[in-house]
Amino acid sequence: MLDYDLHCHSNISDGMLTPTEVVERAAGRGVKALALTDHDDMDGLDEARAAAQQHGMSFINGVEISVTWRSHTLHIVGLGIDPHYPPLVAGLRTVRSGRGERARKMSDALAKAGVGGVLAGAYQYANNPNMIGRTHFARYLVESGHCKDVKSVFNRYLVKGKPGYVPHQWAELSDAISWIRGSGGLAVLAHPGRYMTGRSGMGKKTMHELLTEFVACGGQALEVVTGSHTPEQYAEFGRYAEEFNLLASCGSDFHGPGESWRDMGRLPDLPLNCRPVWQALGLQ
Ligand code: AMP
Ligand code: MN
Ligand code: MN
Ligand code: MN
Repeated sequence: MLDYDLHCHSNISDGMLTPTEVVERAAGRGVKALALTDHDDMDGLDEARAAAQQHGMSFINGVEISVTWRSHTLHIVGLGIDPHYPPLVAGLRTVRSGRGERARKMSDALAKAGVGGVLAGAYQYANNPNMIGRTHFARYLVESGHCKDVKSVFNRYLVKGKPGYVPHQWAELSDAISWIRGSGGLAVLAHPGRYMTGRSGMGKKTMHELLTEFVACGGQALEVVTGSHTPEQYAEFGRYAEEFNLLASCGSDFHGPGESWRDMGRLPDLPLNCRPVWQALGLQ
């Protein structure tokens, strides 16, 4: 089992815990090296680093950038980034800036589908209003009795093809990678298995094209072990990592107790053919 968790969220984006609470939970569950990777925002890093120091845990500055590639939304994790690098700071500000209007459109679309007045409720769940997103809508729709849990809200209302889904233009793939690399970080394609599932998911040919472009843009690693992958997908993406000469990363993608695919803590080992990303991060 691995005690590296290189992907998780605090309430700076759509996690439920503060950065300090995330670190405490990780420490309590045996994590030795942690990266906080909030969506499109780096404001939790100072607090998390200070908490990690208190627990004697290695801490890596991270971020998870929302990207639009062709018709797909992708997530690119940056590890070992410099949160003061101006192009990264400015780029993320631009990515965040569309979220308010998107939230209004989501609320309007849900109202048309018979679920009225959810905007204010969703904002109640957004500790950082600049980062309002689908998860905050989902939590509110659970609380107000529309669905039994967050996953059901997504399946019924918030994924592509459902009434509350609003298409959105995020960052360009090449920009996200260059912000990360320019700041000294490593660019990781997050949870690739999720781009291949569902009716609008990509097939193998498109995944090859994506990985080819990701590498050409300077992408360095693939998330092989993540909370939303099955053991078969660990093997499948381990092979992709080998084929494309990418390092392999791992992380829980934890968002909150009882809500995530996987809690923080020990993760299954990477497949044997993988070269772990932490070697390039200077961790043992
Ligand atoms: P947003 O950036 O506002 O589009 O929200 C994306 C976030 O929604 C992801 O990071 C996940 O936390 C969550 N999410 C996306 N799809 C699902 C799903 N099918 N079930 C549960 N959560 C999801
Ligand atoms: Mn999320
Ligand atoms: Mn993600
Ligand atoms: Mn994530």
